[in-house]
Amino acid sequence: MRRIPVKLFLMAAAVLLLAGGCGRGGFDEDRKEFNWPVMGTYANLNVFRPKADEALLITKSAFEEVNTELSVFAPESGVARLNASAGNGEYVQLGRYAVKVLRESGRYYEESGGAFNPAVGPLVEAWGFFRGGGAGYFPPDASVIAKTKPLCDFREVELKDDGIARLPRAGMRLDFGAIAKGYAVDVAYERLKAAGYSNFLVNLGGNMRCAGTRDAEDGAWRVAVRNPRKELEGEPLGMLMLTNGMSVATSGDYEQHYEYDGRRYSHIIDPRTGESARGVAQVTVVARAAMEADALSTACFVLGAEASRGLLETHPGSGALFIMVDDAGGFEFEMVGGFADWFEPEMDGFGNAQ
Ligand code: AMP
Ligand code: MG
Repeated sequence: MRRIPVKLFLMAAAVLLLAGGCGRGGFDEDRKEFNWPVMGTYANLNVFRPKADEALLITKSAFEEVNTELSVFAPESGVARLNASAGNGEYVQLGRYAVKVLRESGRYYEESGGAFNPAVGPLVEAWGFFRGGGAGYFPPDASVIAKTKPLCDFREVELKDDGIARLPRAGMRLDFGAIAKGYAVDVAYERLKAAGYSNFLVNLGGNMRCAGTRDAEDGAWRVAVRNPRKELEGEPLGMLMLTNGMSVATSGDYEQHYEYDGRRYSHIIDPRTGESARGVAQVTVVARAAMEADALSTACFVLGAEASRGLLETHPGSGALFIMVDDAGGFEFEMVGGFADWFEPEMDGFGNAQ
């Protein structure tokens, strides 16, 4: 692990953004980029002509189908119906995507010692983040946290072999906000590959997976890692070079958050304590699939750099860049696993310290 202290005034970094870069040779002239809003965020597809428009349709319908099963906001989704039936004794039939994500979630829950936990919904709501959070919100009382925490026990979620599920207690609620977008990207990726596309990059709200390369000279897809205290378009911390199925996801404290009494509270909750997770401003995870990167980035955000090490080691081909933040607002960069192999730092403080 590398530990890279940076001066406070440099500010830390934070989000992911696809960097187009300029073309070398004919490849890029044939590349087409689509951007559209979906699932409360933005999506982006880079793909090559001549069948670029068909690729867009494939990607859109993959996102749509996953969202239809997993969204907690679409009242007819299997997960929304499961949440609505919490405590009434009934089982709800889930679709195959929801079953897959729920099963995989169980794996990440165990591997992360409960840091990743989609049963955290009631705590997310208690902290004011169910529908966005923001100005005017404030942390819940300790008594509210103590009352809410028992409703977030992932081990109580029942899933049977035939895909029927039940939440045994009234007030329980699943929230797949930390993994569903990554999974949707994997579904789109698999369908595009099956349809014969071999060079593309799919991005759903910063959850990305690439196929092949971005130009004829085997150039990697270039993804900017943003500074967490600057706008998305601001100067990036550096560039990730990704090829052949590699994925990336970022979790950050600049997404849904509010400030209260001079402290920042963000939308990722530590289910073990019931508190809004602290100590990380941003974590960017590279992994071999987008769902893996998505789930790991949220788990790593809760765990912090040191405690994430073992988790990342159990995922071959993964690595993470942490921007840790202390109570005084000072930042420290830490790279874990293989991250440095794919990352080209661009910030002065960053590059010089290596
Ligand atoms: P991400 O941006 O992928 O890290 O996902 C963050 C979202 O996941 C939050 O907005 C919540 O909806 C949900 N969430 C918050 N804390 C957790 C947690 N510890 N485990 C799983 N999901 C969480
Ligand atoms: Mg995530």
